[in-house]
Amino acid sequence: MTLACSVCAAPGRDGALACADCGELLAFELDAAALDGERLREAVRARRASDDPLDRSGVWRWRELLPPVPREAVTTLREGDVPLHAAPRSAAYAGAKHVAALHLGANPTASFKDGGMTVAISDARARAARVAVCASTGNTAASMAAYAARAGIAALVLVPSTGISEAKVAQTLDYGATVVAIEGDFDAGLVAVRGFDPARVAVVNSVNPYRIEGQKTAAFVMLEQRGWRAPDWVIVPGGNLGNSSALGKGFREARALGWIERLPRIAVVQAAGAAPFARAFREGAPLVPLHAQTSATAIKIGAPASWKKSLAEVRASGGTVTAVDDDAIADARAQIGRDGIGCEPASAATLAGLRALIADGTIGPGEDVVLVLTGHLLKDTAYAARYHGSSAAFANRIVRGADPAELIDALIAARA
Ligand SMILES: *Cc1c(COP(=O)(O)O)cnc(C)c1O
Ligand SMILES: [Zn+2]
Repeated sequence: MTLACSVCAAPGRDGALACADCGELLAFELDAAALDGERLREAVRARRASDDPLDRSGVWRWRELLPPVPREAVTTLREGDVPLHAAPRSAAYAGAKHVAALHLGANPTASFKDGGMTVAISDARARAARVAVCASTGNTAASMAAYAARAGIAALVLVPSTGISEAKVAQTLDYGATVVAIEGDFDAGLVAVRGFDPARVAVVNSVNPYRIEGQKTAAFVMLEQRGWRAPDWVIVPGGNLGNSSALGKGFREARALGWIERLPRIAVVQAAGAAPFARAFREGAPLVPLHAQTSATAIKIGAPASWKKSLAEVRASGGTVTAVDDDAIADARAQIGRDGIGCEPASAATLAGLRALIADGTIGPGEDVVLVLTGHLLKDTAYAARYHGSSAAFANRIVRGADPAELIDALIAARA
């Protein structure tokens, strides 16, 4: 594994967050040719039957593909090995035949951030960092707080003072992090955090290349459950654009190792009020930051740090970028719930995006699609409660003053 600039390819200094020459983000590069892909795949699979904590982690069992971290520094909560569920209700809603959902909300702190955080915090521990910091719309904060607590590292988070899920803040407080409510939004918080000296504090936002390495293992976990057949499309919500970058990198590495024959196309979906990347993609122009607005708070980001990395992955895969409005996200989220899966609003941008991409002919109804669900339903119960109390299309209102026996009769009749 070597660290280099993701834009100018100058060698990167380990521990730095940006290229000393051009200021762009750093990325690890895997020398796949130096590995025996077939043997490695067998070895990684065999680890699932082991009791070694590193083998039980769906991130660390791929450790040959991660930057080296001393074993004693590894901080794991058994993250990573999440289920890939068939999602027939969601498929019907989108007008598709084959839709499955990789539920990264099944991670220990209930979002995909854990896959990256286990690596970033383990690296911070190996460097004897005393404090970890991040800017967050809630999920990075909760994940960092949990892993930092396990590692004995103090955690400090900058969160917007309004417009973030109360459940995520409560979770973060519970894990013992210092939570600082700032006047600005996520983007302002990230600017502040990127200004800290990485030699003094561990900055664990997805500008940290160790985060990306951990998150890429979700691509392997998905492919492994599919018998190493790549889907036609992988649909992922886009906020700061670290996760789409990570998944794209994972698929490219899987191909370089001979694990899959072709790359799945990546579709990144943003919320319409926070879609600077969709616009840049459409216009073939550099990204212009904006003031983000959406009730899918996890993707309420106007100046995504990893847009160049994500664009490179979308292009390499032959994919696309699109945006969907908040009402479409709300209805799609309720449909994912009806599959018995459930997710937070940002994750449902995937299904809303699939529906739009099928409607406009970008994706064919018979294509094989995986939705990447990034966070758990319980991450934002206030949103779910609001939806079901409203007059929205799939609202499931609480029934009051009815006779349960009569309701049972009606439910039986409806299924007959
Ligand atoms: C962080 C997050 C996103 C956005 O991921 P990026 O890597 O910032 O693009 C989407 N959904 C959920 C639930 C998240 O927590
Ligand atoms: Zn550079």
